[in-house]
Amino acid sequence: MTEDNTHIADRLLKRLFPICRSITGPGLRQSLEILGDEIPLNIRSVASGEQVFDWTIPDEWTIRDAYVANSKGERVIDFNSNNLHVVNYSVPIDACMTFEELRPHLHTLPSQPDAIPYRTSYYKRTWGFCLAQRQFDVLDRDDTYTVVIDSDLSPGELNYAEARLEGTSGREYLFSTYLCHPSMANDNLSGPITAVLLYKALEKMDRHHTYRFVFVPETIGAIAYLARNAEEMRRIHGGFVLTTCGGTGAFGYKETFQGDHMIDRAIRQVFCDRGIDPIHYPFRPDGSDERQYSSPGFRIPVATITKDKYYEYDEYHTSLDDLSFVNGAQISESAELYKEVLAILESARTFTSRIPNGEVQLGRRGLYPSMGGGINQPAADNAANDRAVGDEVDRITWLMFLADGKHSLDDVASKSGYPLTALQYTLDKLIEADLIDMETDHST
Ligand code: ZN
Repeated sequence: MTEDNTHIADRLLKRLFPICRSITGPGLRQSLEILGDEIPLNIRSVASGEQVFDWTIPDEWTIRDAYVANSKGERVIDFNSNNLHVVNYSVPIDACMTFEELRPHLHTLPSQPDAIPYRTSYYKRTWGFCLAQRQFDVLDRDDTYTVVIDSDLSPGELNYAEARLEGTSGREYLFSTYLCHPSMANDNLSGPITAVLLYKALEKMDRHHTYRFVFVPETIGAIAYLARNAEEMRRIHGGFVLTTCGGTGAFGYKETFQGDHMIDRAIRQVFCDRGIDPIHYPFRPDGSDERQYSSPGFRIPVATITKDKYYEYDEYHTSLDDLSFVNGAQISESAELYKEVLAILESARTFTSRIPNGEVQLGRRGLYPSMGGGINQPAADNAANDRAVGDEVDRITWLMFLADGKHSLDDVASKSGYPLTALQYTLDKLIEADLIDMETDHST
């Protein structure tokens, strides 16, 4: 029996959550290796100092310990109790100082006094600690403190991982996710775990399309990946950034920069079929790595399904985004939606008319109402029925007109305005009536 998704997701949450990750370093590598235990991943490296488009790969960050101790030697802030306590990418320090000297290096979230905030300083060399406001409030203002961050910033590498599942259509889709946040679950473990679940699902399928899975540290990793794979990436048809889809809240959907790409239509269709009205996020050039993939040099349309989207939930970028907020069942729910989107993408094949010369005589095949004239003038008492028949004939007309081996169902949806499921229903009828041949492979 195959292991169910909830169980896989819970197992990965448990293994990955405690690790102190960053955009480089041992925590990132260890996390990629854990994902590599689940699916076959190629883990790659880019050396510190390497130029990737407008950016330079930074020195690698290693963190072993960090604390602030009072004059009695008690650790009043301790990295070992929560890795969010240290500002990610802090330079090393070993010093004694007054509270006033320490204070500018302490970060709290007064609006959420029990939460430890998440702070990073990747490109400006500094150090700092994050702590709950309540913890800050009780620090003795008159004491002197020993401040230790046992870290290294030295030339090393940035790591990312990729996996690819080949299809036959010649069309390739991207699933990208990031893996650079320390102990937080929705942002960001929900993304990579969903990617693993989708890879496992696609692996078992008889695939039409090719799927590329990319696990990068956010921003710099996606830029490095694009720099390394520029030509291949420019041929990607569309994709998804998997992020923040494991919370307790409502589903959301951030559209692609095009807004009406096949991917947008497929996602809307899935929500519609499920009777879910998702929180709609029009495209903005913020958020996650869609900023890189959809940049002018690539223009890959990328969408995201969320369940408590980044920026939007109270626990976001704090210690409260933990395993009491996120669980495997919630992540699996999002993975199921993505799988339904994939099913629609997989069904998007081109098709060819068997009667390409002129219009097909529908009436002879029982596909047209025999009584002509009524379609555009529905009688009041029969209006709904006539309109339904009229829509069906209209869909047939669109499908037959675009049955030239160059258009797929999503193109018809785009041009005609009919939903994909209705078009699929009509297309099945046309296949049954021997009017249409589906293209099974156009890679050769
Ligand atoms: Zn984040």
